[in-house]
Parts: sequence; structure tokens; C-alpha cells
Amino acid sequence: MPISVADSVYLIQVPSLFPVGPTNCYLVNSGEPSLIDVGLKNRKSYETFMRELSTLHLAPKDVEKVVVTHAHVDHFGLIRRLQESSSCDVYVHAEDFQFVSDYEGAYLRRLDYFGGILRDSGMPPKILDDLQSAYLFLRDVGETPNNCRKINDGDTIRMGNVKLDVVHTPGHTIGEVTLVWKEKGILFCGDHLLNDITPNVGVTLREGSHLSLLPDYMKSLEKTLRLPGNTAFPGHRDIIQDFRSRASQIMRHHEERKNTMFSTIADGEKNASEISKIVFGRIPLSEIPLAIAETMSHMKVLEDEGKVSSCRRGDVTYYSANK
Ligand SMILES: [Zn+2]
Ligand SMILES: [Zn+2]
Repeated sequence: MPISVADSVYLIQVPSLFPVGPTNCYLVNSGEPSLIDVGLKNRKSYETFMRELSTLHLAPKDVEKVVVTHAHVDHFGLIRRLQESSSCDVYVHAEDFQFVSDYEGAYLRRLDYFGGILRDSGMPPKILDDLQSAYLFLRDVGETPNNCRKINDGDTIRMGNVKLDVVHTPGHTIGEVTLVWKEKGILFCGDHLLNDITPNVGVTLREGSHLSLLPDYMKSLEKTLRLPGNTAFPGHRDIIQDFRSRASQIMRHHEERKNTMFSTIADGEKNASEISKIVFGRIPLSEIPLAIAETMSHMKVLEDEGKVSSCRRGDVTYYSANK
């Protein structure tokens, strides 16, 4: 049963295959039925979606628009399947556009990119092979949607009587958006803010080198403090009742984490794989690339602050504390 979370807004929770749990999708049913995120593509999530829509006397053909908060497959993989009987337009931020509008190509590039990061981190080849196989399923849980359109910061999206302002909040991905429903003081924030876990922040490839997304993320959190309202509807888990205090908590968390990361190299240089093992402890295999990417994002910031130096030996980068 879809959960009514605000005037003409329903929460549809779609199972995901990731440890973070089901994806929160929001149906805005105010004259022009539209969706904010859909889950990944598999039979279970498709059936969940069909059942939930039909409870509200709707079918995919009634859906006019889908806004994708960010280019992670658990937020858009199912769209193409729904488009078998719907010609809905799909809106995604310009910076995340290529990952959605060419899923198959982006999947291969991402696999390649993560392979590079993991080699750079000093990951043992055996774990690298296991990870490559573990991630093969991603190819099948997404598909390129039709009618993809770019959105940008400052745009307005109308869903019938509901007017949403697009705010670019990069960090979790480079093109993550938060949709602001000013009239009600509600944010649809995707994975920019989550209630009881901190969103993953990694690195991205720009002009041939890895760039930390952490500085962008910290700026996005600051921007969030100035948004109107109190409630945020996130991409996973529970609704956030006070998004400003959650954004502040996450900012403090990253300051602390950065210090923890720094302390791991006090007794000598380490690679990202070794640092990540100390900071994150034992984690499931599928979480390892995220932990490595987050470790690198912190180490790069520390490097930019002049506290850390890095050097490459072979394929691997080693970090040491500056005296
Ligand atoms: Zn995400
Ligand atoms: Zn997500």
C-alpha cells in the first residue's frame, strides 16, 4: 500500500539489491501523475510498482514525468520497463545525464573506472577479481530510458499543481539534485541526505585525474542549511523531520572522519586500501569500492590542505603525513 506522506504525495518503496535497503520513490498525484525516482529493474520491483500504482487506480501509461534525483541505478533502472506502456519524459541533471541516457555505455565505463581506483588503492588482485564478478549483476538491473531531458540548478518542474525548484546538490554524485517544494516546505533530496547512515561520497574522473567530491558535498550541505522548510523525503529509509540538523550532523561527521583518516598514517605511509580497512573495519564485499572511493576523497582533500603527500609506486598510490 503506498504511504501518503504529504498532500497528493505517496511513498512507494521498491526493493533494491543493495545493503542500503529499498528505494523510496515518490508519486506526485496532483493532476499530472509524476514520479520522483523509480527502483532498479527486476521482476520484484516491477511487480511492486505495478501493484502500488494500481492501488491508486493508476498505471504506467498515466505517468507524465519522472525526475531522477541522481544517476544510481537503484533510482532509475526500472524507467524503461515502465515506458513499455508510457511515453513519459525523464528529467536528470546535466552532470549526471550521460550515466542515465546511455546506461549500457556508462556501466562499462564505471566498471573500468572502479577497476582503476581499486588498483590504485593497492587492493589484492584476488579481491579485485571477486569484485568484478560481484558487480556483473549491475548490467541487468538498469536500462537506458527514452525521452531523457537535462535539468539544471534554478529550473522549475511542474507536476500538475505541484511546483518543484531544482537545486543542484553535488557530492553523492556530480549531478545529484534536491527538489524543493517551497509551498509546503518539503525537500525531495534523493541520496543527498539520509537519516541514519551517511551518504557515500567518492571521487570522480575529471580531465584524466581523480577529483574528490567531498568539497562539493560540503558546499551542498551548506546550501541545504539555507533551503526553506523542515522535512526532507530521502531516497532510502525514514523521512527526515529536521533536514538542517541532519545536514549539520553529516558535516561534523566528515570533519571527524577526515581526522580519523589522517591519524591512520601517523605511524607511516599507507595506501587507500590499508587506510580504508582501518577506518571502515570489516564490511561486505559489495561495500568495499564505496569505502575505497570515500577514503580517496578524504585523502585528496587532506592533500589539498597541505597535510598529506602522495607518491605512486607501480600502480599504487601511497599517502604520508607531512611533517
Ligand atoms: Zn545513490
Ligand atoms: Zn540510492
